[in-house]
Amino acid sequence: MCEFCTGNVKLEHSSANSPGSDSQAGSAKKTADDARSALSLDADLAKPPNETDAKQSLLKKYGVETREVNDGQTEFFYRAGGHDNVVLRTASDADSLAKAPDQLDKIVQQRVDSIEKQFKVTIAKPGEFATTAEVNDDDCKPVAGDKVYARQGTLPVLFGLEEGLRQSQPSQFLAGGKEGIKIYLLDKQAAPDFYGGRKVQGTYRFKSDNGKPVIYITPAGQEQPATSKDTLKPGDRNVAWITTHEIAHNSQSLQWGRETPENVAVALGWEKYQHKSGVTVFPFIEGKNGDLYFNGSDSCKTPTTWFSIHKTGWPLDANGLPVKSVAEASKFTNEEVMDRAKVRPSTFYFSSPFEEMAEAITSYRYSPESRAQLFKQSPKLYEITAEYDRKELADFYGKDWSWNAKMVRTPDGRVVPRTSDSVRQIDEFEKQLRAGG
Ligand SMILES: [Zn+2]
Repeated sequence: MCEFCTGNVKLEHSSANSPGSDSQAGSAKKTADDARSALSLDADLAKPPNETDAKQSLLKKYGVETREVNDGQTEFFYRAGGHDNVVLRTASDADSLAKAPDQLDKIVQQRVDSIEKQFKVTIAKPGEFATTAEVNDDDCKPVAGDKVYARQGTLPVLFGLEEGLRQSQPSQFLAGGKEGIKIYLLDKQAAPDFYGGRKVQGTYRFKSDNGKPVIYITPAGQEQPATSKDTLKPGDRNVAWITTHEIAHNSQSLQWGRETPENVAVALGWEKYQHKSGVTVFPFIEGKNGDLYFNGSDSCKTPTTWFSIHKTGWPLDANGLPVKSVAEASKFTNEEVMDRAKVRPSTFYFSSPFEEMAEAITSYRYSPESRAQLFKQSPKLYEITAEYDRKELADFYGKDWSWNAKMVRTPDGRVVPRTSDSVRQIDEFEKQLRAGG
């Protein structure tokens, strides 16, 4: 999600409101106070507590599991990238096992250092203040909630973060191209649920308290599997995807500012709404027959849903007649609106043109499979996204004598020099897509 994105519009006629959070939706259950409980975990491990507690602690703090291997040795490993990653092997006696957390802390720190160095980003230190949570009061007015801090990343979360950053080059850089964005792994949720009652998994903030943009990965985001190779079904959320999506917002912020440009919003099939404040936004996605849909709800206490709407902001019932509430309006699932849309979004998350593009950019960059899927779902959206990405590469890395970007993005999402080989690889991939392969 991105904070203050176009979707965050309160319409004048109805009480419908949309959550402006971009976010990445999830099914997370816990809102744990992880930073604080992590502190007490050290104490627990030092005792040492009974074996099951120790295992739970390792899993919670580091994302690591243990197994007995040959010769009385214990192996510490985590699942990410579709395989087990062994990080430590010790003798299985109590003294050796009690030393493991110190070693795991060092391993986590090395991983953080390596990510910061490779991508020039900053990962907030555990315990560092991030933001004050926003919650809704009884009248649905946003008010300040708990203070939210950074926590230490588990190894699977750091693995996913690294993969997301690798696929996102060079979008992690702030204006000027030298300094990368700061990333916080939050210890609790910082915003109300959104988009059909889902937990926010990630947030891009255009401007944080220190004046610069930042990215939050929430506890609901950190609970997701590390990468698409670790998920149960294709299209399930994962840490790498969430990271790529939030970093895409940083790129949009540099290329566009806070709003999707009118020509892009129109090309994506969104209808404008002139707010009485004078602000023009594009909150309504167009169907194939001039029908319009909006994602909102009657109250912050009701999950948002897609419903039919008139361009003046009145919800419409099944007969196309104006009604006063979302409850009375004709409602649709994400998938139904995708099927009806003039330009089909690439994933279920398209609360605004800004979000629709962030998901398309993520699909384009994440893997050859997701790039192919983007084309299959929506060839027009693929073209708009490819053009967007080429412009970013040309702006960042410069152009050659023939006015082409010096760098290109191959189907695996990596940015490589433009050579006859890399160009051929992309051409063949796209030719196969157009042939339906
Ligand atoms: Zn977003």
